[in-house]
Amino acid sequence: MAFFEVIDPVFSSYVIGNAPVKQLATGFDWVEGPVWFGDANCLLFSDIPNNRILRWTPDTGISTYRAPSNYTNGHTRDGQGRLISCEHGTRRVTRTEHDGSITVIADAFNGKRLNSPNDVVVKSDGTIWFSDPHYGIKTNYEGFAAAEENPCVVYRANPGTGALDVMVDDMNCPNGLAFSPDESLLYVADTGRMFSTDPQHIKVYDCAADGRLSNGRIFHTVTPGCADGIRVDTDGNVWSSAADGVHCISPKGHLMGKILVPELVSNICFGGRAKHELYITATTSIYRVTLNRQGMQKP
Ligand code: MG
Repeated sequence: MAFFEVIDPVFSSYVIGNAPVKQLATGFDWVEGPVWFGDANCLLFSDIPNNRILRWTPDTGISTYRAPSNYTNGHTRDGQGRLISCEHGTRRVTRTEHDGSITVIADAFNGKRLNSPNDVVVKSDGTIWFSDPHYGIKTNYEGFAAAEENPCVVYRANPGTGALDVMVDDMNCPNGLAFSPDESLLYVADTGRMFSTDPQHIKVYDCAADGRLSNGRIFHTVTPGCADGIRVDTDGNVWSSAADGVHCISPKGHLMGKILVPELVSNICFGGRAKHELYITATTSIYRVTLNRQGMQKP
């Protein structure tokens, strides 16, 4: 089978013709939140309905990293390499310290509980940006059904003071998010309210040095499916999950090509010794493909 679909000829140089889209493990229910730990040569990811974080290494395959996980979804690492997690079950964002203890970054805004933090990214100034849609509390599948208490927005957390600021409040349900390489742009996927026909697209915002956002506009609409998790490479291309695989979108917003995956993709992350491998969480399985690209995320 073909692993790639080239739309812009430039995409041919982003992929390696004989590098397979390889299934690394399967048998999960709904996987999400991949994050690469190069120092431990492992991938962590969430199997959300089964309430666990799993670990994959090239030598030993799958093992359990944390269970129960409080129904974690998205993950990233901060500037010190610590794991940052979005938890549906406890409706909070946490940091796992180097000694294994867990610090709560955010669990409420204006005295009301967060909804179900979904995905997270850390800016170079140390602030933690996360989306808080309602998916994890709409049913009992990926957490605990409950009422929404705050609007579905993107927050910025200051881990030093604990302060939370609302940064994006013009979406139905913000989801994946990523900064451009110079952090002058923030991309956010809006996947729409659950059980609705809301529009689904990636928006982009200008991001000032102090983090203030402006000029939000539609950047790209993924089809088939929608953009959930998104990542940026060192040239500013946006890589997005889609129903038929992973789509590569140029900084100008046009589709350059696709990595074809046989299951619906939820999220992705770059990893490997040169951040040249793309790890893909897709419904019941994880996949990996080696690219002629490098991801931006740290470390
Ligand atoms: Mg997500």
